[in-house]
Amino acid sequence: MTAFASVDAALKSTSPRTQAFIDGRFQDALTGQTMASISPIDGTHLAHVASCDERDVDLAVRAARQAFDKGLWRNASPSEKQRTMFRFAELIEANAEELALLETIDLGKPISNTRSADLPLTVQTVRYYAEAINKINDEIGPSPSDALSMIVREPLGVVGAVTPWNFPLLMAAWKFAPALATGNSIIMKPAEQTSLSLLRVAELAAEAGFPEGVFNVLPGDGPGAGKPLALHMDVDAVAFTGSTQVGKLIMGYAAQSNLKRVGLECGGKSPQIIMDDCDDLDAAASAAAWGVFYDQGQVCTAGTRLLVHRAIKDQFLDKVATIARELEPGDPLDPDTEFGSLVDQGQMQTVLGYVEKGKAQGADLIVGGAQARTASGGFYVEPTLFDNVTNDMTIAQEEIFGPVISAIAFDDLDEALTIANDSIYGLAAGIWTSNVNNAHIAGRRLRAGNVWINCWDGSDITTPFGGFKQSGFGRDRSLHALDKYTELKTIWLKLKGG
Ligand code: NAD
Repeated sequence: MTAFASVDAALKSTSPRTQAFIDGRFQDALTGQTMASISPIDGTHLAHVASCDERDVDLAVRAARQAFDKGLWRNASPSEKQRTMFRFAELIEANAEELALLETIDLGKPISNTRSADLPLTVQTVRYYAEAINKINDEIGPSPSDALSMIVREPLGVVGAVTPWNFPLLMAAWKFAPALATGNSIIMKPAEQTSLSLLRVAELAAEAGFPEGVFNVLPGDGPGAGKPLALHMDVDAVAFTGSTQVGKLIMGYAAQSNLKRVGLECGGKSPQIIMDDCDDLDAAASAAAWGVFYDQGQVCTAGTRLLVHRAIKDQFLDKVATIARELEPGDPLDPDTEFGSLVDQGQMQTVLGYVEKGKAQGADLIVGGAQARTASGGFYVEPTLFDNVTNDMTIAQEEIFGPVISAIAFDDLDEALTIANDSIYGLAAGIWTSNVNNAHIAGRRLRAGNVWINCWDGSDITTPFGGFKQSGFGRDRSLHALDKYTELKTIWLKLKGG
């Protein structure tokens, strides 16, 4: 695969689209407004991207509604829907290298990650829901002999999806694939930092053959484009992934408008527990480090609260610290780079601000904590490890969304589980132990949507993903995600002579 000497060279090898995609056509925002897309790798200006507002939202909703009412997609036969979605997956796969590059230059995520994870997982998601189209049956109820009760799933209609910047295509695919598979029209609002890959995918959706108005992408900022989408009276559901703070606003918009269905995949502050009976501390240390340093900590499930049994804490943190010290931020376009930049300057300042708060509140900074690669013009922060954190400190309670581990000591399993659950979040949690009893007790008592035992981030498209508590509700991935995009209807048919 080609290695690129600069962001500019990488950009030149792609064909980014920068206009909104509405009703099967690329078009400027009605106001003509644009927003700058800046690469966090070195500050290069990548593109002027359309900045949509409520007028564009109106246009897209009308197109999506019309498409739905005409039924060109909704009423297409299952095999026709499957053909289109499989073609879509193939087109994304055929253009994966370009899409991976677009994500890397837009977001600063290492190219090795976008090539090995974001793109293959996006393709797998589209294929999984394409396959589901003719595998899900409706139900016939146990009605009396003079009646037939049918319980059928119907698409909702027009779905709005508001997504974050950390996995731009994958988080979008977790919404659009099940929504399309169940016959809805969709309007995507990508994060303002990272619109490029999804806009290119809109072009591929048209090539795959989705009817006009079924797949729409409205780039723009949150208040300008996301809010009017979530407030719109003719949008039937809004599927959101992002921060808890904005998730709460989305619920409010649904309440203020038409009580549209809301699904929320929000933030996390996940605990990873290391018991003193863990029989592979090297594997646990690697998971503790990579559970936070992967994608520079900009992962909703990052295991940022590292709970370590006091008897092994020093020995264990030495191992994690060694990994952190050896992991140098590098050029995200270099295929050997494992740790890239943060998404933008604002995010870098936020993370550095949390490092200062950690120090001020008495935590011990063991590794990192500073900006890196300053000469590049990009936004890099060193892998960072704090020891002697207590769970009431800000760095243990708030989502940092950067490469910062907060290590907390405990004395027994009961205390570890109490600390682990002492959070407003409940997205993921994990435990490393060789004691089967501890593993099962933790599996049951940890209040999180994903619990990992002797691993971190073990999951795939077949398993549901989502949170407890203020990490949200509703599930992405697996067949359970279809519930988010369908209504159940009961049809009761009275029979004569039964
Ligand atoms: P964010 O909440 O700032 O933004 C998410 C999306 O909401 C963006 O598209 C943004 O433009 C939009 N938005 C912002 N204000 C809005 C408003 N007033 N009305 C409507 N839309 C608005 O989040 P982010 O910084 O893009 O992403 C990071 C967050 O996403 C973290 O909290 C992370 O944990 C979370 N996340 C969660 C999951 C999950 O599956 N649970 C996955 C990835 C990221």
